[in-house]
Amino acid sequence: MGAKWINIFENRRMRTGAACVAFALILYCAATSLIFSSETETKEQSQTALATFVGPGNPDLPAPAGAPLSSSAQSADAPPQAASASFSPAAQDEATQAVALPPVASAAGQEKGEVLPHKDRAGALPFSSSAAHFNLLKMGREGSTLLVIGGIQGDEPGGFSAAALLASAYRIRKGRVWVVPDLNFPSILQRHRGIFGDMNRKFASLDASDPEYDIISRIKGILLDEEVDLILNLHDGSGFYRPTWEDKLRNPKRWGQALIIDQEEMTRPPFLLEKTAGRVETEVNRALMDPGHRYHINNTLTAQGNEEMAKTLSWFAVRNGKPAFGIEASKEFGTEYRSYYHLRVIEAFMDFLGIEFERGFPLDPKGVLGALNSNILLSAFNDRVILHLDDVRPQLWRVPFRKNDPCPAIRGSKPLLALVQDKQGWRVAYGNHTLTRINPEFFDFDESLHKIDLILDGQAHSVRPGEIVQVREAFRVNVPEGFRVNAIGAQKEVNGSEAGVLLKRKDFMPRFSVDRNASIYRVEVYKGKAFAGMLLVRFGPSPVLRERPLTADQGPESDLGF
Ligand SMILES: [Zn+2]
Repeated sequence: MGAKWINIFENRRMRTGAACVAFALILYCAATSLIFSSETETKEQSQTALATFVGPGNPDLPAPAGAPLSSSAQSADAPPQAASASFSPAAQDEATQAVALPPVASAAGQEKGEVLPHKDRAGALPFSSSAAHFNLLKMGREGSTLLVIGGIQGDEPGGFSAAALLASAYRIRKGRVWVVPDLNFPSILQRHRGIFGDMNRKFASLDASDPEYDIISRIKGILLDEEVDLILNLHDGSGFYRPTWEDKLRNPKRWGQALIIDQEEMTRPPFLLEKTAGRVETEVNRALMDPGHRYHINNTLTAQGNEEMAKTLSWFAVRNGKPAFGIEASKEFGTEYRSYYHLRVIEAFMDFLGIEFERGFPLDPKGVLGALNSNILLSAFNDRVILHLDDVRPQLWRVPFRKNDPCPAIRGSKPLLALVQDKQGWRVAYGNHTLTRINPEFFDFDESLHKIDLILDGQAHSVRPGEIVQVREAFRVNVPEGFRVNAIGAQKEVNGSEAGVLLKRKDFMPRFSVDRNASIYRVEVYKGKAFAGMLLVRFGPSPVLRERPLTADQGPESDLGF
């Protein structure tokens, strides 16, 4: 660890507001804490976190159990089957400002184009991430409070993906759920257990010079918050924990498929850790995908001289009077299976605490995969640039970036999204994955354009830069005097601009699309040489879900567990 690291993290500790942290050859950038800069503000985020909740009847709903995922065989020229409004507006609950479930997509969209209603940015793209601040999302109202922590180790995607889904695709109807989906985000982005060492060994004592000192201090404060009733720390562990030796993969030294407790019970306050874990174990073992996936309870007897476990988050909580459990899914599974099991466990604990919820996807591995991989939006530069990342091409060319802005602020429809600069350039990271690589083109930005007028299938609309519009047949973009339009991949310029020109799908060259299915295109507006903003136009149905299983691509996963 060179001095550079230390300096950077000292800067961070000074709360300079720096949103970017350079480490080694990697420059990690994320939003300038637009929404997530403090815990008081997280209350608001929490209420907007469900804006991307996919409601029943929405054609963008992940495939229900047993149903095939959208076919990738859909031809680029297939007629649109449904003009869906997956980016549904945050319907306001008058009393509380809470986000209600979004309305079902209107049938009208099938007949003509429409602006996909995600205009309310605070509602639709609620998540921002930062290396310096993990997110705390607070959902629900009075009642018992469950705190769920994901990502304490960066190479355990089952846990942090489950936490991210809990934060983005659940609605809490009764009780409260607090979620930290990205406790160790810099390590998540590198798929590393812990770039500054194992974060789950820093809870007994920690030198103030440790680069993660502030993170540990903040999470300790949250763990001990008087509102918090019960804590789950989500992990992916190797093999299958079994109380007795069965074979190399199934034995007491393995961690997977286990509920970890430090001792049988707590006395102050009185709480039966083992009995509670047993109740959850029974419930989860009713929903196994295979009998071999059975959960067991692993009591680490931490107080009886277990020095390793004495350094962990859960022991810190328990010895300070907070019931806490380590939850392990097996690293033998793909991410969607791990997250499936984590969510089963979380839901069983919610039942135990009397927390009532709704979930925006079917709870099975396929439903989990669909929920993680659909409706992924990222906006940058104050929404002047928007990217739709479902089924995105592996490389996007000439994406406008602002000159002299080494750390673009971003917001996303999901937790765990970031723009990362590395040796090869820029990539869009989503947890342990790279969704696409970006080849930027740098411009001065003109911020004076606040609306773009559109004729969409014959109807007039006025939208802000950064919107996504659904087109059935044709559209026309009108911009004020002095601005010009460049529809990327179309060649219908009149005097160097496509403003006012009627554009159809056939006018676009498929290789210029954002998605691999050649249905989403960029329409960019410029003023002179300055970039002024963009829209995405989408022809046809929403992008197909990626059918390939989630596999990470940022280096090896450790074979460790808790
Ligand atoms: Zn772990």
